[in-house]
Amino acid sequence: MTTYVNASCQCELNAFRVTFDTTFLPISNEICHCSTCRHSSGQMALCHVAIEGVPLNRANGLSVHSSRSSSRSGFRNIDDIERSSSRPRKETGIHHHPSPTLALNAGCIARPILEVGEEHEMPYDLGDMTAYKTSPDVTRYFCTSCSAQLFWVHHMDDGDVWKVAVGVLDRTEGVVKRGIHIWVGDTLDGGVADQLRVIGGIKMPRYREIAGGEELVLGWRADCFTRTYESSAEPTSSGGQLKAFCHCRTISFVVSRPSEVSLFPSAAYPDLLYPYGVSRMSEIVNSNDEKWWLRPKLSLHPTKYLAGHCMCRFCRQCSGFEIQSWAFIPLANILAPGSTNSLCLEVDEKRPAGLKQFISSPGEYKEFCGTCGATVFSWKAGTPDLINISVGLLDEENSGARAEDWLEWHRERVSHQEKALSPSLAKALQEGIKHFWNQIDSTFLVDPTDALT
Ligand SMILES: [Zn+2]
Ligand SMILES: [Zn+2]
Ligand SMILES: [Zn+2]
Ligand SMILES: [Zn+2]
Repeated sequence: MTTYVNASCQCELNAFRVTFDTTFLPISNEICHCSTCRHSSGQMALCHVAIEGVPLNRANGLSVHSSRSSSRSGFRNIDDIERSSSRPRKETGIHHHPSPTLALNAGCIARPILEVGEEHEMPYDLGDMTAYKTSPDVTRYFCTSCSAQLFWVHHMDDGDVWKVAVGVLDRTEGVVKRGIHIWVGDTLDGGVADQLRVIGGIKMPRYREIAGGEELVLGWRADCFTRTYESSAEPTSSGGQLKAFCHCRTISFVVSRPSEVSLFPSAAYPDLLYPYGVSRMSEIVNSNDEKWWLRPKLSLHPTKYLAGHCMCRFCRQCSGFEIQSWAFIPLANILAPGSTNSLCLEVDEKRPAGLKQFISSPGEYKEFCGTCGATVFSWKAGTPDLINISVGLLDEENSGARAEDWLEWHRERVSHQEKALSPSLAKALQEGIKHFWNQIDSTFLVDPTDALT
């Protein structure tokens, strides 16, 4: 049996379907925290699952099942194409299909040539995706318009293996089984893996590198970070700059510590972490003009910024991962490297070179690297001086992937968890952040070497 799942990016320029062997569902998968995944996407981790064959055109938006399964990699041949539709076939007689790898090497996007089949069985045209090679044998694809991560393709001797980014799937429950965290060692501080520990009652192991290797304990930190967890607001270093960069390094910037200028923005909302429609008005109107992005909250001498996770549909489909982590930073504190000038996002001639803008709706902007596809910023026209920074870009060597010397993570809730595609994942993260901080507060201050799970 074959199961088809529709998928699309936020702007819907890319809308396709992918194929799974029903007998293997739900698919166990790996949440990858490696530096390449983080800096090429802007996310704190990425999750891809292997599909059968290549992405396909949609079957008029419907999920269909077939008793035949397709080949594991490469383009399917006529014998593999399922025959459940009643629509007449097109005969093309074309039996030539160049590999995406070869097309990429020739400097263009792969456009699989139709071998034979009905429209919805045709390989999906990759023309509206941008390809980015993160290693000689791996190509990632993202939406050219909204930058959603879409595919991770492993070029192997016997053909290409395609994996789809889980965040763009129409459904994950029953399809994707959360498994394990891999390459957590790259985060240098455990990253978001420490906050996503148990799902459906099953512990998710945190591997330093690949699955089955060394497991890391909760609270693990790389040797280069000798400081233990503290609930104190005092950062390790009171000054300095927090570096951030995308994988291809086209985009790089630094964040400075809170200063007087950090007070200038005014936000209409008290905290970005409360959804409209299901919250009380008192929660979603910042009537006292609180500078909630500065932490500790209400401190006369804030040293950090607020950060939190969002699981709304917009973030998910824009990123390709179900969890988008944002840090809320005044634009005045976001500087060009080696400069004291803050970045400019509103004047075309002064914008950082290579930074592409996606306008999701009037006055709402997402900024991303046009080369590697990493999500960089999101911001609103009404508050152009307060910017959401995609946390996956932060230089883990500065302060770890969670950058706790710079960021105070929201401890209570995950933004828009009510709208998460996967309620079980949202519940796991929500419980994980509360549990994590409770343990940090109650245990690490007593004995920071305690090995918790
Ligand atoms: Zn898109
Ligand atoms: Zn990775
Ligand atoms: Zn880049
Ligand atoms: Zn969101």
